[in-house]
Amino acid sequence: MDSYNNGNPIGLGPRTRQPKKKFFRTLSILFTLCLLLIGGFIAYQYIKPKHQAETVKVTTIGQVPIATMEKARVEQWNGVTKKVAYLTFEDGPSALTTDILNSLTEQQVKATFFFIGSNIDAQPSIVKDVATAGHYIGLHSETHDYATIYKKKQYVPEMLSVQKKIHQLTGRSPLLTRPPYGSSPGISKSIAKDIVSADLRVWDWSIDSMDWYYKDSAKEVAKTVINRAEDPVEIILLHEQPQTLRALPAIIAGLKKKGYQFSIYDEDFHIPYNFVQQSNL
Ligand SMILES: [Zn+2]
Repeated sequence: MDSYNNGNPIGLGPRTRQPKKKFFRTLSILFTLCLLLIGGFIAYQYIKPKHQAETVKVTTIGQVPIATMEKARVEQWNGVTKKVAYLTFEDGPSALTTDILNSLTEQQVKATFFFIGSNIDAQPSIVKDVATAGHYIGLHSETHDYATIYKKKQYVPEMLSVQKKIHQLTGRSPLLTRPPYGSSPGISKSIAKDIVSADLRVWDWSIDSMDWYYKDSAKEVAKTVINRAEDPVEIILLHEQPQTLRALPAIIAGLKKKGYQFSIYDEDFHIPYNFVQQSNL
């Protein structure tokens, strides 16, 4: 068997033809390898940019809003997530503003106030007190009237009028607005466009304290806020009402116990938060 087959596979003919066959076989293997390498390289070049394009793809407006708030503000200190609560008081200034200010000062907490133009006219000196105490004053329309603000598209003119009044009293021109009754469904696309053109911003709320509902129970108001506070950032809707003033110490204590710190709105670090889901407001 050895002499017959001597390095020559069975059935491949005479030895003399072997070198040529071997040469062509080696050549075809090398050629195939080259083809595979070139093919692989081309395929890689083709796939790579395609993959990058997918990850860079811009998110549409509708997908952005609510989540951006959480992403923007969550901070970690020693592995513990920093939780921030924004107390926002609507519809002042009122007869209760001074008491609310005193309560906040006592507990060393700063808040955000959204004032109505006609109420500023009634008691302008309180506006100065709120600003001096270091709270943020935002805009909450002149009339607080749904039909006028949204159907007659007076949102921006009313907010700019309040902004002017606050500027005359405090020297500041706040940009943040709180839409009366919330931004949805009132703020249409055309009103949103006007808001952006006027360089104003919009903030709804993440927790309704229900102080408009629990008129006789400060305890229920406090309980509602504390129970609903779950997320790293909470914007709490409050009104300048007696039950809210009475609930304030319990709200602050309860939120502190849950790990919240209190902040005021920061124009340099705007977090879009609105029910109409527009990331540019
Ligand atoms: Zn209001």
